[in-house]
Amino acid sequence: MNKCTMCGSKMNKVSDSLLHYTECGLSKVYLKGIFIYQCLNKECNEEEITIPNIEELHQLLAENIATKVNKLMPEEIRFLRTYLGFSGVDFADAAGVSPETVSRWEKGTVNMKEVSERFLRVLILSKAGPFRNYEVLKGFASKASKTISKHYFKVDHSHWAVDMMACARPT
Ligand SMILES: [Zn+2]
Repeated sequence: MNKCTMCGSKMNKVSDSLLHYTECGLSKVYLKGIFIYQCLNKECNEEEITIPNIEELHQLLAENIATKVNKLMPEEIRFLRTYLGFSGVDFADAAGVSPETVSRWEKGTVNMKEVSERFLRVLILSKAGPFRNYEVLKGFASKASKTISKHYFKVDHSHWAVDMMACARPT
């Protein structure tokens, strides 16, 4: 039984509304199957959300973004960079550009060049294991991007998958 960290009261499990997961830094990520706990103490009303296996979720998200055909959006560049554990300065060093350039990519004032995008994407894809699928590189960043992509994921027994049903739904 979960207890409220604010007041110590019992918490009620409220399942599985769709969680808009903005804490990851991306504006359109939606999660299904998450449990939300609500404090039963009316004066407290604390809500606690536990996202299981967040590493797997972020890996899936990073790989989805890294393999898209459209160019990366600023918030996606930032997400991928922080997913790799780079500070802005460290990523600038790794990519051979100035820290100002990285900052401009992430603010959207300057477009990332294809070679830098592909470099970032290959770093993501080689994190899980050796990357040798050179054929897919041709597709990366080959199309312009106008809108932020939506991502729907669902969790089942602590394992994450793309929520195909939600993806197919008209928006
Ligand atoms: Zn409480």
